[in-house]
Amino acid sequence: MSTLNLQAANVLVVGAGIMGAGIAQVAALAGHHVFLHDAREGAAQEAKDQLSVALHVLVSKGKLQHDDVEAALTRITPISALRYGKTATLVVEAIVENLDVKRKLFAELEALLPEDAVLATNTSSISVTALANGLKRPERLVGMHFFNPVPLMKLVEVVSGLHTAPEVAEAIFTLAQSWGKTAVHAKSTPGFIVNRIARPYYAETLALLAEQAVSPQVADACLRSVGFRMGPCELMDLIGHDTNFAVTRSVYEANFYDKRYVPSGVQRDLVDGGLLGRKSGRGFYRYP
Ligand code: NAD
Repeated sequence: MSTLNLQAANVLVVGAGIMGAGIAQVAALAGHHVFLHDAREGAAQEAKDQLSVALHVLVSKGKLQHDDVEAALTRITPISALRYGKTATLVVEAIVENLDVKRKLFAELEALLPEDAVLATNTSSISVTALANGLKRPERLVGMHFFNPVPLMKLVEVVSGLHTAPEVAEAIFTLAQSWGKTAVHAKSTPGFIVNRIARPYYAETLALLAEQAVSPQVADACLRSVGFRMGPCELMDLIGHDTNFAVTRSVYEANFYDKRYVPSGVQRDLVDGGLLGRKSGRGFYRYP
């Protein structure tokens, strides 16, 4: 197996939401030049401005050096169109959790970027094999699944689909380690490792809420009291109910509608009502 090295890659992060902004931060602090793009006009610049504020708070707390933060920020370039990031040899896609939208994006990226570029997806649940289907170079597509919040969570699942070249998965594994992460190889099964295990945790919480057997406050307090860092409702608010609901539906469908993974009406109502969690200012809880 030849060795593919991404240590000096220019990185194009597509999607400047919760995850994309965190990925851009980690990549830039690790020394990469990062292009940050979002379909919503102005979102990439807003994400960079918010990152700047958050990083300077860490400087004031003595957790990061001022010069390192300034240098990292100069390495992040918000771009209004994908073509401005065409020199990137690594893409990390962090857009909406939808197979068709992601496929369309990867086809566009494949036409734009150098032939040897690696296409990584941060999908939580969509089949990496299905995402690669239809690409000219499906072996260049791999899952690089970060956890929220990206700068704090150590784990990265490196997800190989049926097409993924071992050297591509290995290069992402090594890169994640060099970004200070704990990498693990995973197969492209529904939910990969963590989301597969976590689905019943959210599902049982939502079932208890639907039965009005517990409130979000009590559920969270109980789980915290037995050693969890966050309760399930606070965690779902952090993830975003739109994303979490999409992941649940995708895992349910991928498991041939196995009842164990059935989505919850409680979450559908939150999504329909625009109560997406922290990012919209209200989910189970209100956020200032
Ligand atoms: P988000 O809603 O915070 O951000 C998604 C961003 O993508 C938005 O800013 C949106 O404008 C942009 N976008 C949508 N379609 C686009 C397109 N075609 N081109 C460019 N930009 C586009 O979502 P998020 O929570 O950051 O999730 C992004 C991805 O990461 C999803 O695949 C999700 O499953 C995965 N993920 C999320 C979490 C989590 O806890 N939220 C954890 C791990 C993985």
